Amino acid sequence: MNPQEAWSAAYHQLELQLDRASFNTWLRNAVLLAVEGDVFVIGVISTFARDMLQQRLYRNVRRTLVETYGRPVEMRFEVHKPEPVREMPGSDAPLFQLLARQQQQGDAQIPLHERVARPQRAEIPESELNPRYTLERFIPGSENQMVYAAANAVAERPGSIYNPFFIYGSVGLGKTHLLQAIAHACKQRGLRTVYVPSEAFINDLVDAIRTRSTVMFRDRYRSVDVLLIDDIQFLAGKESSQEEFFHTFNTLHGLNKQIVIASDRLPSDLHTLEDRLRSRFSGGLVIDAQPPAYETRIAILQNWAIDRGLDVPRHVLEMVASRSKTNVRELEGIFNQVAATQQLSRRDITLNATVDILDGYHRPRENVSLARVLEITARQHGLKVHDITGKSRLGRINQARQVAMYLARDMTVASLPQIGEAFGRTHSTVLHAYHKMLEDIKQDSDLERLVNDIRERVLTHSDD
Ligand code: ADP
Ligand code: MG
Repeated sequence: MNPQEAWSAAYHQLELQLDRASFNTWLRNAVLLAVEGDVFVIGVISTFARDMLQQRLYRNVRRTLVETYGRPVEMRFEVHKPEPVREMPGSDAPLFQLLARQQQQGDAQIPLHERVARPQRAEIPESELNPRYTLERFIPGSENQMVYAAANAVAERPGSIYNPFFIYGSVGLGKTHLLQAIAHACKQRGLRTVYVPSEAFINDLVDAIRTRSTVMFRDRYRSVDVLLIDDIQFLAGKESSQEEFFHTFNTLHGLNKQIVIASDRLPSDLHTLEDRLRSRFSGGLVIDAQPPAYETRIAILQNWAIDRGLDVPRHVLEMVASRSKTNVRELEGIFNQVAATQQLSRRDITLNATVDILDGYHRPRENVSLARVLEITARQHGLKVHDITGKSRLGRINQARQVAMYLARDMTVASLPQIGEAFGRTHSTVLHAYHKMLEDIKQDSDLERLVNDIRERVLTHSDD
């Protein structure tokens, strides 16, 4: 087997071995660029994929390659961009549409980050599917294996296993993405598929009542193979809509048609609905969507970067992933800004710029005062506040000072000059300390624990 064949074989082996999301993120389109002695030079799509392969997946990939090639070899990964046939990077990103629209309309009143965080979806007529929301593009991570596996099963055999399939979870955790992904898969299979947010269902019903066409309305919903209804919590308190949904549900369920429901709360918290549908849910599957873990967030960010043809530095992605934890929608808003900044400046985005973007999202809690940060930091170091603000450069005092500066910037609304003043130092000293701490925390888990502990105490006001 020649090297090219060996790499192709290994590539296909790896495609089978790794889960789809990982494979797509790290290895998709990886090509053999050269063979230098015993070293296979492999071209991959980004620095991030390169680092990941070099550091974490190396043994795995090497083992597979050695097996197919039948000889011991090493590998080196390089960033290799295939000839770009892709569209203009990011030209279809919500941000760019927004910018264009803003320029036309001059409605720049609302801060950009807020508009980006809440892209206006109205342009997509409500029940139309977003082409990006597919199963391939959903990154399950370990925390969402179950819901992902179930969605795949439903997409493969609608109507036959989990019926209804009920996904619940708080905002921005991928419920709509999964519903639409199932819808895409079912459509492709030629099934009559209706995806409908429950508000659209309600509007449709209101229209039908107004135009006396409820019969048609019923026909429409009761003749489908797959009905996916999003954000069903909005049906709460709307009796006619619930009534209509209840009958639709019963009809479809009786015909073994697939029903998929997403909600921000459990069926048991949707009281009236649950009373009537309780018996039906027992035959189905209820799963919650979980917030993505750190590694999943990195993988999601990386996929977005690849989509845009952007090579965002790894430490920037790590910073975004480590500070935006609760939901993917927020992560997306931040990423859009990072991407825009990088594209506009035409060079690598700096950590500083990233911190500023993140700060725009994570407004510090107004009630955290500088004095509070100083006091708790001093106490946890066995020091007095005036030690920290004083001149001494003793190791322990110095460390406490840096921790306090870091937390002051991270947690309070004080500006850099204000913080500087409180410490009797310049604002650039504060900024320097802040960045140094960011790095130090990454290297030193004891320090990280200490800082988190102080942060907790500052927030909870627990004085013991
Ligand atoms: P929800 O309906 O739960 O509020 P969405 O489905 O609208 O959340 O998800 C918000 C955004 O995050 C979407 O752009 C979606 O594609 C993305 N997203 C959420 N979870 C994932 C994931 N695990 N992998 C990839 N993208 C995700
Ligand atoms: Mg949703």
